[in-house]
Amino acid sequence: MVKVGVLALQGAVREHIQSVEACGVEAVAIKHKEQLEEVDGLVLPGGESTTMRRLIDKYDFMDALKEFARAGKPMFGTCAGLILIAKNVVGYKEPHIGVMDVTVERNSFGRQVDSFEADLDIKDVVGNFPAVFIRAPHIVDAGPDVEILAKHDDRIVAAREGQFLGCSFHPELTDNHQLTAYFIEMVKEAKQKKLA
Ligand code: GLN
Repeated sequence: MVKVGVLALQGAVREHIQSVEACGVEAVAIKHKEQLEEVDGLVLPGGESTTMRRLIDKYDFMDALKEFARAGKPMFGTCAGLILIAKNVVGYKEPHIGVMDVTVERNSFGRQVDSFEADLDIKDVVGNFPAVFIRAPHIVDAGPDVEILAKHDDRIVAAREGQFLGCSFHPELTDNHQLTAYFIEMVKEAKQKKLA
């Protein structure tokens, strides 16, 4: 059985925990870096990436998060979480955790549309997914090993690169848990591979 952590420094933590639990898997709110050792995969929630980065530094999480990625454990960045795992952020010299080979742009759907909902077809996952976008980033560029899973208005809003899954929207804010379930499958596969 796998355990999935949700980085609990800021943002939509409780909803992600509920979504993981709705898939029948144990979820752990990660408040201390030592807890990362207990879990097989990690969700980085939406919220505010600059605030989250400040808290990552304040609570000394950065090396442990990079080590988690190096160990091959799956990470799922949603909205601000996607900004945290991206290797490039438009307008910034340095990335945050910088592990997924994508370039993201923050707040890229314009000020007028702070938030909106759109039905998405997410490749290999689900059709008609009710995606909630809140001051969402999008992926402006993706490396050769990145698989594009969904677009909205011609912009990439969901993608996977091996152990990394990222989306612009908030999958935890709907009753449809299929994207979370897809991530949990990634976590199970990664763990089985390690044991094999
Ligand atoms: N705009 C936020 C940021 O740049 C992300 C918004 C969200 O996570 N809902 O961090």
